[in-house]
Amino acid sequence: MTDRLYYHDSFLYEFDARVVDVVQRDGRAAIVLDRTAFYPTSGGQVFDTGKLVLPDKTEVAVVEVTDHEDGNVLHFTAEPVPEGAVVHGFIDATRRLDHIQQHTGQHVLSAAFIGLFNMPTISFHMGDESCTIDLETAALTSAQAQKVERLANEVIAEDRPVSIRFVPLEEARQLGLRKLPPKQTGDLRLIDIKDFDLCACGGTHVRATGQIGCIFVRKTEKVKQGVRVEFVCGLRAVTTARQDYSTLTETAGLLSAHIHELPQQVRKLLDDAKTASKMQHKLLEEIAQLEAERMLSAITSAPRVLTAVFAERDAVFIKLLAQKLTAAKNDVVALLASGSGQTTLVFAQSPGMKSNMGQQLKDAMAQLGGRGGGSAELAQGGLPAGTVDLSRIEALLKEIGAKLQS
Ligand SMILES: [Zn+2]
Repeated sequence: MTDRLYYHDSFLYEFDARVVDVVQRDGRAAIVLDRTAFYPTSGGQVFDTGKLVLPDKTEVAVVEVTDHEDGNVLHFTAEPVPEGAVVHGFIDATRRLDHIQQHTGQHVLSAAFIGLFNMPTISFHMGDESCTIDLETAALTSAQAQKVERLANEVIAEDRPVSIRFVPLEEARQLGLRKLPPKQTGDLRLIDIKDFDLCACGGTHVRATGQIGCIFVRKTEKVKQGVRVEFVCGLRAVTTARQDYSTLTETAGLLSAHIHELPQQVRKLLDDAKTASKMQHKLLEEIAQLEAERMLSAITSAPRVLTAVFAERDAVFIKLLAQKLTAAKNDVVALLASGSGQTTLVFAQSPGMKSNMGQQLKDAMAQLGGRGGGSAELAQGGLPAGTVDLSRIEALLKEIGAKLQS
């Protein structure tokens, strides 16, 4: 069984060891050391990376570390390392410190949720950018989340000592732990944040809460099992806050506003956009109406078959126009196309006429290589922009029109 050096010192970044076994796992070779400071993924905390230096000074990267049920720690390396080799291990200290800050921060946060609102943590996940805990609760208000965040940061500012001790399970049961592991053999490893939290955990932790730096709750959301709280701690919180602030500052610059005025400014912009969009639609309807009147005035013989291609207009316009044309008279067939955005064809006829626009459009689309359909009275189809020349479409519309006219 591997001697886990990180159990006793989370800040041990170098150690000597010997390769006692080489095993195959999922098609990859993994080495077992007699002792290790590398943390394997478990309990929500992700693995350490680093390197092993061999006696001939060869360096081999440690790319993943996992826990094996036999009690050994498996080190997956970039190159093979022979059994019996004596190695000097180096842990990636930046990555480890980040994990220590997130992980111990989670202890503080979970204890604060219990202490203030009796909301137990049911799971913990450490991601590349942020971490989450799932709370067993039906709801969490933002005022509650802020209160917890405040308490957690006060505990950090108080720089409370964090100590590790090993006690038998029976003794641990008397201590009122926040969390007991589901199955346990041998002594329990307890992490004690002085006068604030006591729980069983195999992870790596700070020596005193001040080393967590800070805890920043970013988001809360309802999930199936309760409420998910996203947070970041320590230097990661600084990085995240810097990114957030830069985004806000850039956005505020675009609006020539102070960042605190952004919600109000964005609300105003959205309102303006809504008004402008309504106005635009109204104008488009008016133009469609005028265009319909112009087109109808040019033709008097029934049925009035009208074909037109609008290179600068889009699908919305020709649909509006088709509606106006077929509503104005009871003997209109409109075969229209637009060239702005996706090339679109709209076929429509006045209610009660005998042709089938859906079928006509389907046939036209089959010739042009597009897709579409609709009812006997109104049908629509699209072609990817630029795939078919508008003059070809115009010729086809005229051809269909001539057949319908006869
Ligand atoms: Zn822990």
